[in-house]
Amino acid sequence: MRQQPFGTGGPQVPVIGQGTWYLDRGDRRRAIAALQRGIDAGMTHIDTAEMYGDAELVIADAISGRRDGVFLVSKVLPSNASHRGTITACERSLQRLKTDYLDCYLLHWRGSYPLEDTVAAFEELVAAGKIRSWGVSNFDNHDLDELLAVSGKGRIACNQVLYHLQERAIEHAVIPWCEKYGVAVVAYSPFGHDEFPSPRSAGGELLQSIADGHKATPRQVTLSFLARAPGVFPIPKASSADHAAENAGAGNLTLSAGEISAIDKAFRRGPKPHGLPML
Ligand code: NAP
Repeated sequence: MRQQPFGTGGPQVPVIGQGTWYLDRGDRRRAIAALQRGIDAGMTHIDTAEMYGDAELVIADAISGRRDGVFLVSKVLPSNASHRGTITACERSLQRLKTDYLDCYLLHWRGSYPLEDTVAAFEELVAAGKIRSWGVSNFDNHDLDELLAVSGKGRIACNQVLYHLQERAIEHAVIPWCEKYGVAVVAYSPFGHDEFPSPRSAGGELLQSIADGHKATPRQVTLSFLARAPGVFPIPKASSADHAAENAGAGNLTLSAGEISAIDKAFRRGPKPHGLPML
């Protein structure tokens, strides 16, 4: 599995990670087995959030005995992101995840608490050793400008944003902003949540033909396309171990310039929307 720095000066993190939204909804043992198969295959970056029901509890079981081999990320809800509320929410997540530190802690989306308060809490958590870094999610480039003015350079580890073949809005301004300031881009819902191109569509047929040339699958081709720019980390969610193993296989797949250009034409980027799309 290819690894790359998680933001400038950040630790090496595998290019493909694992999402966990709705992972608590099905059979728990199956979910644990999927996460573990993913970790075994190199997808050690695990993304969760206090919002994701019991996902943090499922992860605690999946990483039991191997915490230090995992890059663990959770998120505070905007409604909890006051100075005190952020610290309490983090402590709650640590308890549920049965760990004493997070590798990265994110503000899930921008809410009404001043960024100064949330950032001050994040920095306090870093100083206390409860989190190793912090970042944000669903921030557009102008939100990132405001955040940078509060935090100063070199403090924002990542921005986690919606990115899949049919939703490429972040390519206009968010990815360039993050590249400029050395901030990792974590690509959520890389399969469109539940809207992966049908095999019978023109785009689906293209993905299959590119996949055939690499003895790969359309989903692996998709993840490799999304991760083509340095510093981008897709985090597919899988509740089946076979799906997890397939997704991990994308971590060693490199597409040619011609293949990238064909996918680019089949799934148009489109104009920059007014607001940043999010789920
Ligand atoms: P996704 O990863 O785009 O798609 C998940 C769906 O794809 C599930 O139905 C899953 O099925 C299926 N799938 C996965 N691998 C597959 C494979 N190899 N073959 C066939 N089907 C496969 O959707 P997502 O969960 O919305 O996004 C991923 C993660 O991003 C989330 O879990 C969460 O951690 C994060 N996220 C963050 C935000 C945010 O606001 N920050 C918002 C949304 C998501 P099975 O479960 O049956 O395997």
